[in-house]
Amino acid sequence: MSCLDPSRPSQDAVIIGGGFYGAAIATYLVKQRGIKRILLIEREPALLMRASYNNQARVHNGYHYPRSFTTAYRSRVNLPRFVRDWPLAVKQDFTKLYAIARRNSKVTAKQFERFCREIGAEIKPADPVLRALFEPRLIEDVYLVKEYAFDTTQLANWVVRELEENGVQIHYDTRVTAISKGTRGPLQVVAEKKGGGQEVITCRYVFNCTYSGLNQFKGDFPGVSTGLKQEITEMALMQMPPSLNDLGITVMDGPFFSMMPFPARGMHTLSHVRYTPHMHWNDQPEVDPYEKLLCYARDTRVDRMVRDVGRYIPEVLKAKHIDSLFEIKTVLMKNEGDDGRPILFEKHAELPGCYSVLGGKIDNIYDVLEKLEAENIIGIDD
Ligand SMILES: Cc1cc2nc3c(=O)[nH]c(=O)nc-3n(C[C@H](O)[C@H](O)[C@H](O)COP(=O)(O)OP(=O)(O)OC[C@H]3O[C@@H](n4cnc5c(N)ncnc54)[C@H](O)[C@@H]3O)c2cc1C
Repeated sequence: MSCLDPSRPSQDAVIIGGGFYGAAIATYLVKQRGIKRILLIEREPALLMRASYNNQARVHNGYHYPRSFTTAYRSRVNLPRFVRDWPLAVKQDFTKLYAIARRNSKVTAKQFERFCREIGAEIKPADPVLRALFEPRLIEDVYLVKEYAFDTTQLANWVVRELEENGVQIHYDTRVTAISKGTRGPLQVVAEKKGGGQEVITCRYVFNCTYSGLNQFKGDFPGVSTGLKQEITEMALMQMPPSLNDLGITVMDGPFFSMMPFPARGMHTLSHVRYTPHMHWNDQPEVDPYEKLLCYARDTRVDRMVRDVGRYIPEVLKAKHIDSLFEIKTVLMKNEGDDGRPILFEKHAELPGCYSVLGGKIDNIYDVLEKLEAENIIGIDD
């Protein structure tokens, strides 16, 4: 096909969304599939500014999902790969504890132990010094486990380097508004630059990696067929007292809480099942989640989080609230009951070459790449 051919799409692939997923998929397409001309379009002024930054930074190892064996099992498979591929981004030098609440927990300590054995996840009784941090009337048992945290800043550094080295073009401050069947090429993407200006890009493939924005496109885009739930979430960033500084703690399983190192800021995130979600709605194309968050008042609920967590771990009452991360969390409606975090991977039959992708957690990228491996994706000049 000649370069002057007017029917030649201007790009092989357009990736919409420069979070971890969009960036990792772009890298995969160049390195593993030999796709040459890739344009990544991101509405923010930099990469990994949204959910890929504003999260609890936990590299899951299964413990979190006693009600979803598949998610637990996939976490066990994916954690070693994540550690192998992004060693500099993984923080391992902290002690991770899981504790089981005596009341209102959906699992007992014995059930949790059995579940960990079933998924092959390491678990040991915590020593008395660590146990002493917990209020024994409220906590049935405390375990030492193996779970890590990731540093989003390091991931972002990797992403920027990889994309540059692999020749992926990036348009920042640009929002894709429509995806259609093209007249001059197989697919057509309309993008609007912040401050004005519109461009129309033709391409063979579109990868919609917009997480909360998955259904926010006009044109021929049909929307994803999987129901999505959107939540405005708050994660408090805390300076922990020395007694908690080298620890990550999760109290299971139900209306409880987690505190995890947040390496990108040298603090801890504190999340609470009751107070972290501020509001939620079922996703619909007319409601832009990013706009909704922008208009949201963001009154912190950290006092309520700390008050409740302090009943279980009194030392937390000495922590200092520094900041809060507010973000939209997008989950599949079908997993509301079991907390599972599978991927969404949809191929739009109405728009051949267009894929929508959502990873429920960061290490699910491997599940997405496995799906892509089975796809017949080829460059224009192949
Ligand atoms: C509160 C919270 C806690 C979490 N905790 C964890 C955890 O501890 N461990 C874990 O593994 N996972 C966690 N997750 C999930 C994890 O953050 C996500 O799975 C992951 O970041 C998704 O990456 P992404 O690239 O799909 O999304 P994002 O990083 O949000 O990337 C999507 C990008 O698309 C851009 N975009 C959207 N619409 C458009 C458009 N129309 N045009 C151009 N660009 C657009 C956005 O600006 C954004 O940069 C958490 C998520 C949240 C919100």
